[in-house]
Amino acid sequence: MTRPATVTIVEVGPRDGLQNEGRIVPIEQRIAVIDALSRSGLPIVEAGSFVSPRAIPQMAGTGEVLRGISKTEATRYPVLVPNATGMRHAIDAGARDVAVFVSASESFSRRNINCSIAASLDHVAEVVALAGPQGIRVRGYISCVLGCPYEGDVAATTVAGIAGRLASLGCDEISLGDTIGIGTAQQAQDMVRAVVQTVPMARLAVHFHDTCGQALANVLACLEAGIAVIDSAAGGLGGCPYANGASGNLATEDLLYMLDGLGIASSVDIEALLDAVELIETSLGIAARSKLFAARRRQSARLGSGGMTRQQQGVAEAGRHARMN
Ligand code: MG
Repeated sequence: MTRPATVTIVEVGPRDGLQNEGRIVPIEQRIAVIDALSRSGLPIVEAGSFVSPRAIPQMAGTGEVLRGISKTEATRYPVLVPNATGMRHAIDAGARDVAVFVSASESFSRRNINCSIAASLDHVAEVVALAGPQGIRVRGYISCVLGCPYEGDVAATTVAGIAGRLASLGCDEISLGDTIGIGTAQQAQDMVRAVVQTVPMARLAVHFHDTCGQALANVLACLEAGIAVIDSAAGGLGGCPYANGASGNLATEDLLYMLDGLGIASSVDIEALLDAVELIETSLGIAARSKLFAARRRQSARLGSGGMTRQQQGVAEAGRHARMN
């Protein structure tokens, strides 16, 4: 058993989440949600991306978002950049952390971003070259690490090879993403064990989608392999671009509930996080997709009509306990 004692949660809701929601959220509301998320103690909150607003209108105005948020010392605010042009915009907006992306599947890469894997790696090299002199931290995302909607299976050795390339190009951290939420626990653990042959565990993160209900199981399997950085999105923001109406990113609050039960600490106050999820629902008009948020809402409704069941007391107690971690 090599589970870590503490984990770092990378909140991806305001970027990966919102870019996959149909609704375009105004800049002021994006700022309010990011501020609410950082108040919960999240150490990393992805703030947006500098991609073409024609391609992804949800992320237009990320420069204003980055300038408008109330930055805290305890939180970092990465932005996604596809190439050197995006990187220059990010630098102009004061970004100190950026993220780049590459697919483990050639077909996905060409169809999703109209670019080969080799060309994506060239873009990464351009971004890293601009980041280095500024001391900007670069995270690399790899998509389709457990399967591709066009090619099917993706070999763990392929993922390990791309992760090794990203590390050697200068990415500080590499996030392994099951973009279509197709993978299961053993496969996820095997993939991490293959990748760690090329990149040290301390530089790896995992990114799961709950499309098939496997996200938490996959996280647990990867924790047992030694992973200590986990991506998630408050309220399960994001949906799934390949399956209309399906669950998207793993919900941060569901992840926190599991970590608490495992005795694994994070820096996040679960009550403050649930306040941020409530803001996402009420202000953004996007329904939260997490199990914990739904359970807490049902518990509140029950309390309003008198008394908690034993199970509901357990949910409330877990929330109080998690706040201390
Ligand atoms: Mg995602």
